[in-house]
Amino acid sequence: MKNTSIWINNREKSSQTIKQDMEVDVLIIGGGITGLSTLLELQNSNLKTILVERNTCGYGVTFRSTAKITYLQEQIFMNIRKTSYENALLYLASQIDAVNWLKNIVHSYHIDCDLKKVSSYLFTNEEENVAKLEAEYNFLSQNHVKVKKTKLEGINNILALQVDDSYTFHPLKYINHLKAMFSDSIYENSKVTKIDKKDGYYYSSVNNLQIKSKYVVLASHYPYFLIPFLMPFKSHVETSYIGAKRVKQCLDISAINIDKPCISMRYYDDGNNCYLIYLYQSFATCNIKSIKDNFDELKKLQKFDYMWSNKDIITNDYIPYIGCIYKNDDTFLIATGYNTWGMTNGTLAGKILADIILKKDNLYISLFDPHRHINLNKIVRLPIDLGCNLKAIIKSSKGNVNNSKVIYTKKDGRNVAIYKDEKEVEHIVLNKCPHMKCGLVFNEVEKTWDCLCHGSRFTLDGKCIEGPSYFDISFK
Ligand SMILES: Cc1cc2nc3c(=O)[nH]c(=O)nc-3n(C[C@H](O)[C@H](O)[C@H](O)COP(=O)(O)OP(=O)(O)OC[C@H]3O[C@@H](n4cnc5c(N)ncnc54)[C@H](O)[C@@H]3O)c2cc1C
Repeated sequence: MKNTSIWINNREKSSQTIKQDMEVDVLIIGGGITGLSTLLELQNSNLKTILVERNTCGYGVTFRSTAKITYLQEQIFMNIRKTSYENALLYLASQIDAVNWLKNIVHSYHIDCDLKKVSSYLFTNEEENVAKLEAEYNFLSQNHVKVKKTKLEGINNILALQVDDSYTFHPLKYINHLKAMFSDSIYENSKVTKIDKKDGYYYSSVNNLQIKSKYVVLASHYPYFLIPFLMPFKSHVETSYIGAKRVKQCLDISAINIDKPCISMRYYDDGNNCYLIYLYQSFATCNIKSIKDNFDELKKLQKFDYMWSNKDIITNDYIPYIGCIYKNDDTFLIATGYNTWGMTNGTLAGKILADIILKKDNLYISLFDPHRHINLNKIVRLPIDLGCNLKAIIKSSKGNVNNSKVIYTKKDGRNVAIYKDEKEVEHIVLNKCPHMKCGLVFNEVEKTWDCLCHGSRFTLDGKCIEGPSYFDISFK
């Protein structure tokens, strides 16, 4: 069993890195689906645009995604509708558009990324959730979506909704193709550590060099650089556990339930084997009791060939933040908070952000505006999210001591965590996430140090592989 994402076999070597100061029109930070989609949308403009990625492109959250492309996204429409029917309607239109845009990009650029048309299902196996599914059905069918009520074969369910215009694909093959198309404009192993603004220009520090730009697009998943934006007040991070297992036959379906625990599935054919990709359980990262127990639950279900975890940002009104970070200033842009639906929303973000920069109209700018008004969902969720964040900060200060291979101690007056591997080699890191100083827990399956406050992750020897932190925690 491999303790990594099934997409690992298509991880590419890094390309060029930033080696000198530069001046450009647009600097995109982050080479996941959001950053590359934005680069794609700006390619035909006259603006000199570059993208910097601290690792290799696609190796962030996108690499760990189940990569279903659909607008049937749990109970999203009912959740948004609680405060605004118009917003739910606009969100539906945006997701249908995004599915089509992504499909058209794949076809127009002949991207070999195993794009497959599938039927997408939303199901429940609990009587008390039938009414919720019916409400989702009514909303979709009243708004001209071809949706039908049915039952999903091969899995326990009492009702399922089905739409047929959905897709699955290989997210890393998609990213790798875009990376190859724009290789001159992409710099990997290039980490932004600071952004200053002076005289109308941004000065971003990258590998101790400086990039001057008129625009900055922050596509780094969790936005570290924006203290004024106060992400912990507007969102929480959710972690899910995923396995992939070889099966005899691939079915042309993807599915997700609306019950607890969360179950989501799709199939993937790599040309030699068929795999079932199965997600089981999602938790607010700050509420996780034991990473090991959660993986053990997954292991009990099947014997998987791959196992990994992933996290995404859940906004407190269920709508992503895409647009201008500062009011009345279209030079600093952000796209985050996809509520685990980043294949559509990352693609959409590329279009919206490019249109803002190019001063073009876009139907969806106001819906996703990071400065949209406070609403009921936000007010209700704010204390829950804040409480969860606080709980994680307090809990993390105690460390996860239930692992005999991990020792929390002090070295040279600093708090450190030490993991002794199978060969008795010690891996020592500073036990403090650079983001908000939370302590770290050890992820025994993927062999990473994880922060339960906002989801930063580090390798055994402290290299940051997932944000919001952008600093390493190596002990030297
Ligand atoms: C379990 C799970 C399953 C999911 N399945 C689906 C699905 O089936 N369908 C779907 O639509 N969505 C799905 N999602 C959501 C989707 O995967 C994400 O929303 C999406 O991949 C986010 O893309 P991104 O480009 O914003 O972030 P990322 O892919 O994380 O890209 C951000 C990049 O920025 C880089 N970066 C960060 N900081 C810096 C810095 N300082 N300098 C330079 N570079 C930096 C990172 O290295 C990273 O590569 C899932 C999410 C989860 C958690």
